[in-house]
Amino acid sequence: MNRREDPKYVIKYFTNAVGPKREKSRFTYLNYYGQKVDIPYIVFGIDAGKEKVLVDCGCNLYQYNRYIKGYTDEQIQAAKSGDLFTAGGESFADIEDVTSFEDGLAEWGWKPEDVTILFITHLHWDHIMNINACPNARVLIQRDEWKFALEPHPIQKFAYADRWFYEQMKNVELVEGDYTLLPGIEVVKTPGHTPGGQSLLINTAKGIACLTGYCAINDNFYPPKSLTDKIGYPILAATVHVNSIDAYYSTLRLLQASDIVLPSHEVTLMASKQFPA
Ligand SMILES: [Zn+2]
Repeated sequence: MNRREDPKYVIKYFTNAVGPKREKSRFTYLNYYGQKVDIPYIVFGIDAGKEKVLVDCGCNLYQYNRYIKGYTDEQIQAAKSGDLFTAGGESFADIEDVTSFEDGLAEWGWKPEDVTILFITHLHWDHIMNINACPNARVLIQRDEWKFALEPHPIQKFAYADRWFYEQMKNVELVEGDYTLLPGIEVVKTPGHTPGGQSLLINTAKGIACLTGYCAINDNFYPPKSLTDKIGYPILAATVHVNSIDAYYSTLRLLQASDIVLPSHEVTLMASKQFPA
């Protein structure tokens, strides 16, 4: 685990797009039914000197229409805003672009070709659409996740892109289990939401910060006491899951191993640009 003498990193982030007014209970297992939450698709970056690490790479409106809805360019032209798209049992309003992938990197003084490591937390479509944008990056994916994404179980298919999208991804390196990514940056395999989610524990001047290897919001890690008293357990697992018990223990493990969790879809992170501030 991260040691006192390890380098201290700054975690930067920007929001590529937002899924507006999503059903909150999609994230918070058996809780918060009927409540709505905006879900940002956040891209994180860590400048580690020689290595520039990008954590996930978002999805914009065009990519969503083209690769997830499967629209032709003509259909995209004809689409009206407000059209709903049904996936995994919920009808969604279109995602809304916020900061383009290139502009987000440029705010950090980065170009796509500067990225040396593209760390993919998991292969759900909202985390991977710019995966070929960084030609010099090693793309790190857990082996279990890769295998599942090529042939997802039918009840999880809605969260994955089509097989061809994975097969055209460049510079993929399959990894397994926990490992040290760089001094002061540890990888923890966190299954449950998907078979091969991988999370990061990052040494910072404000303690160990966690980037979640799965779709999560603050309420997964920090639900109010009024709720935890009622349900009798301290955190909320992912609702979308391949194994709810694994999802529970992955969340508990990250909470216990870190001083602060920066969940991959936490809307309050849109109000800041980096941790520590
Ligand atoms: Zn997600």
